[in-house]
Amino acid sequence: MQRLAIFDLDNTLVDRQGPLTDWVSAFSSQNALSDLDRADLLQLVHARAHPSAFETIRAQYGLTPSAEALWRDYCVYMARSVTCPADVLEGLSTLRRTGWKVVVATNGTTEIQTAKVTMSGIVDHVDAVCASEAVGVRKPEVGMFEGAAAACGADLALGGWVIGDGVDTDIRGGRAAGLRTIWISGSRTWPGGDAEPDHATTDVCQAIDLLLTVS
Ligand SMILES: [Mg+2]
Repeated sequence: MQRLAIFDLDNTLVDRQGPLTDWVSAFSSQNALSDLDRADLLQLVHARAHPSAFETIRAQYGLTPSAEALWRDYCVYMARSVTCPADVLEGLSTLRRTGWKVVVATNGTTEIQTAKVTMSGIVDHVDAVCASEAVGVRKPEVGMFEGAAAACGADLALGGWVIGDGVDTDIRGGRAAGLRTIWISGSRTWPGGDAEPDHATTDVCQAIDLLLTVS
């Protein structure tokens, strides 16, 4: 039987929120943005950090550097700031040692997501990394899960697991793709409605432990 584990990246394997908030603080101070601007900026990059967002940021705050330069600085900052705990890296390796195919499926641009998995060391502990920009579709679309399975030589039709913090992207999307799911809840409660996760755990280490007990 195929053992396939498809992990989300941001706020699942790595904390994105902390570095993102720090970047917004540093950027706002550097460019003398107001508290209101700071809140808007956080909302903007939280929703979707993408080169086009930096065109908006540049225009909105009348900044001198090009959008390209702002985007590049942001990528460098985030790649340096994002870390993956040692016990999570070890857990990913344990899964692979015990016969699991392990792949990261993440919505985002290839450039920044690749930089994050490389700098955090995740790339050395998984079979493949799949960014939505490279696949051409984003979670929750089934095509993204198909792309992730294919990237590590697995077949989505043979089943697998999705592990992630996203209610729609990871859990509802994974369920729609015919996969079993573990929701990384943090301190949240499931919002209700259909497509409940098979399991919910507080953090990804607990999710990995759970996978190691299922057949
Ligand atoms: Mg996430």
